[in-house]
Amino acid sequence: MILAREAIELLGQMAQILWFEGTRDGLRDREWMALRFLSRANRFSRTPSALASYLGTTRGTASFIIGELERLGYLERRRSVKDKRSVTLSITQQGKKFLARDPVNVLVKALAVLDDDGKIRFRDTLRHVLDQSDVTEQRHHTDVCKRCIFLRHARSTTEGKTMVEFTCRLFRAPISEGEAELLCTSFEHRRQ
Ligand code: SF4
Repeated sequence: MILAREAIELLGQMAQILWFEGTRDGLRDREWMALRFLSRANRFSRTPSALASYLGTTRGTASFIIGELERLGYLERRRSVKDKRSVTLSITQQGKKFLARDPVNVLVKALAVLDDDGKIRFRDTLRHVLDQSDVTEQRHHTDVCKRCIFLRHARSTTEGKTMVEFTCRLFRAPISEGEAELLCTSFEHRRQ
């Protein structure tokens, strides 16, 4: 138990890099969090309501954050051609460039020096802890699509080549290989 507590205390100190008072490079911690999330979110999660769910805020607060990021030129909203009420959020080129100043990059760089086995162990340990606490509290969390229970794989062979096709059973939509690596707020992990 002592080792587990020591690890959690270290995690708490790391969290201070994510959540801070005031601003860093002109953005508050929630605004950085939104920009970071939207740069890694899949098309179903780049919406105001998914962002609110990810940030754990109301729609009103998420809308204020979106407005600020838009005003600074880091984000743009696009209305769906099919449904004018539906909005997709996209990071602009300027926003992508600005992410090079993300305060969490210091943690990313510190982890990048580990070998691949070390990085995988670190990632899987955090995921295990999150999955377990998720089960206890009966809550979902955001994670990469390829781990979701709603993702279906189908193999097909054309002219001797085997292809894997992904489909989301929740949204009833095809998922490309690249999208399977992105974050989704509707993600659900396998219960053990
Ligand atoms: S399979 Fe899961 S994670 Fe992927 S888009 Fe569907 S709900 Fe989201």
